Amino acid sequence: MRTPLIVGNWKMNKTASEGRAFVRDFQQLVEPSTDVEVVLAPPFTALESVRSSLGATSRIMLGAQNLHWEQQGAFTGEISGSMLLDLGCRYVIVGHSERRTLFWERNEDVQKKVRAALACGLRPILCVGESLTERETGQTERIIDEQLSAGLDQLTDANLKTVTIAYEPVWAIGTGRAATTVQAGDVHRSIRAFVANRWKDAAAATMRILYGGSVTAQNAASFLESPDIDGALVGGACLNPDSFAKIIAAAN
Ligand code: PEP
Repeated sequence: MRTPLIVGNWKMNKTASEGRAFVRDFQQLVEPSTDVEVVLAPPFTALESVRSSLGATSRIMLGAQNLHWEQQGAFTGEISGSMLLDLGCRYVIVGHSERRTLFWERNEDVQKKVRAALACGLRPILCVGESLTERETGQTERIIDEQLSAGLDQLTDANLKTVTIAYEPVWAIGTGRAATTVQAGDVHRSIRAFVANRWKDAAAATMRILYGGSVTAQNAASFLESPDIDGALVGGACLNPDSFAKIIAAAN
């Protein structure tokens, strides 16, 4: 019932011309399919080259890695949702743990970004996840509930339909130490229960919850076969067209 979604987060990797070369190789490997949605999230500077290389009829969609909550104005160095929309973005990653930890994004900031994305018609991918210390001290559920409470605060049922959650345990991101499918499945179920509690069962049933954290071509299938996991947010392994194509194949 939920179409799997595979998102490649390039982080601060690839120039505009490297983005063009990636798309050229990637399009040879990935068959267009209605069974899985694919999003590439390059750096802002490569959005235009990736968009034009994909071509107007591609099923592969464009996403951004961040946005500012204001529409325009004196915010040097920032990018607004409407600017991203104008570049062809459909999705935007919000509250990635690297933004939270390296750039001090707080739950309040993430909330404003989710609202700004929705207001301009972008689909936010709200990232949540606990640190290793938080997991080891039994705080996983509390931390994720706080992140969800802030990020989803006051959203209507209609808004919620366009939101995707990405569960990304901080200790699994870029470490090569993925969560087990049991660990991920447990958190995914508690995220769905959180949504069912505050909104309706139907909203929870349709919401896509992705797993992210050291997903590779080798382990993707074990995550994607789990009924609680609706796709993947992929960092390192999405930079290579071949590995990313294999992850997408695992979702098909
Ligand atoms: C990410 O950046 O969202 C991520 C999950 O990275 P990696 O796949 O490299 O762990």
